[in-house]
Amino acid sequence: MLYCPNCYLLTPEAECPICGRHPLFEPEAQDYVFLTEEGSMWSTAMGDLLKDNGIPFATRNTLGAALAAKIGPAKERIHFYVPYAHYDTAKTLVSDFFSAEPIFDEDTLS
Ligand SMILES: [Zn+2]
Repeated sequence: MLYCPNCYLLTPEAECPICGRHPLFEPEAQDYVFLTEEGSMWSTAMGDLLKDNGIPFATRNTLGAALAAKIGPAKERIHFYVPYAHYDTAKTLVSDFFSAEPIFDEDTLS
């Protein structure tokens, strides 16, 4: 996997699928990489899951707070980033977590 330092994205491609940057780098253990994107509804549970498993993480709200207040938190998406050293563990936790939940798309509720 290669790593785009602009987008914090891991990709098997030689250039970044989001910003087109190349060449990309091998990620370092401490580099934060994009893990997943969740609606605000799941983001607390996701944070707790990572915390409970001792995985450091960073989040970024895809909407500014002002915009989120306007259009409502249901439309908010939270990006989760974890250090590359924890990426595989975190990825497994996330997929286990969501496979245990009933199939459910929160977007259909709004
Ligand atoms: Zn990029």
